[in-house]
Amino acid sequence: MRAVRMTAPGVLELTEVPTPEAGPGEVLLRVGAVGACHSDLHILDAAAGMFPTPITLGHEIAGTVETAGPGVEGWSSGDRAAVYGIIGCGRCRACLRGEENRCRVTPVGGIGLSRDGGLAEYVVVPASRLLHVGDMDLTQAAPLTDAGLTPYHAVELARPRLRPGTTCVVIGIGGLGHMAVQILLATTAVRIVAVDTSVAALDLAGRLGAHHVVQAGPDAVEKIRDLVGPPPDGADVVLDFVGAQPTLDTARQVVATGGQLLLVGLAGGTLPVRPVADEPPTVPLETDVVVPFWGTRAELHEVVALARDGRLHADVQTFPLAEAPEAYEALRRGDIHGRAVIVP
Ligand SMILES: [Zn+2]
Ligand SMILES: [Zn+2]
Repeated sequence: MRAVRMTAPGVLELTEVPTPEAGPGEVLLRVGAVGACHSDLHILDAAAGMFPTPITLGHEIAGTVETAGPGVEGWSSGDRAAVYGIIGCGRCRACLRGEENRCRVTPVGGIGLSRDGGLAEYVVVPASRLLHVGDMDLTQAAPLTDAGLTPYHAVELARPRLRPGTTCVVIGIGGLGHMAVQILLATTAVRIVAVDTSVAALDLAGRLGAHHVVQAGPDAVEKIRDLVGPPPDGADVVLDFVGAQPTLDTARQVVATGGQLLLVGLAGGTLPVRPVADEPPTVPLETDVVVPFWGTRAELHEVVALARDGRLHADVQTFPLAEAPEAYEALRRGDIHGRAVIVP
């Protein structure tokens, strides 16, 4: 079968590999769609040894069951599924609570991370990772598993503060951010301020229902403060889906005293935290800083439910498998709007 693999650090190429077979408790899935994630670029850019090579990338997967391995119950040929990508150890304190995204043994274990992923015609996954998606378009189902789940989990962590009348600033209206706007609208009554450098991304945020849009730039902090109030007031919650230095600097300057700052994006910025009462503070007093990672299987169930109810829809740009390397280059250049989805 064809597979797009990281054959060495930084090298992504279309290769031919044997079709894998499902072992006990596993399922062979015919891949219907797989999302191209910024994290894949971080995996490609990571130092040698951080991730195994060669490895088939792709951790945002939906497909159709081809064959079920020995001992698998509840799944048979033709069933359509979304894949929960994390594979925790299953035994630690966090995994026992269903928080595999907080596993204390295998912190980056997962499909397309520590074993072969979905950028291929077929992928083998543990049956326990599958969720039924019914007749949902698989190009819609795939992005739910990360671009939908990750912001859903972040919103879930912030939910106690997302009360009616509060304000949430969403920075970065890309694959995750455009889902975050919809999740906030579907599950809270907050006022949403969307921030991005791209006018097209802000147009998308506006169409989806964001209450205010602000173009990122030198005056973005002042523009956001005009909407959320100047310090010590500010946004109750800030979700940064970029994590670059300019976005983190914006985030900490617009979050309210006692607010919550969630750093989701992995773009390599640094957030200074200095607990002294000087002016201006690095982070306002009583502010929580949270670094969410992906989400839980239970949360993915809820994300799929939102999508099946028509409340969550991914804006997708599709590419054939052979063009996956080009799709990642477009993602790196910032030329993807919404989510890039590869269709093998
Ligand atoms: Zn991802
Ligand atoms: Zn664990």
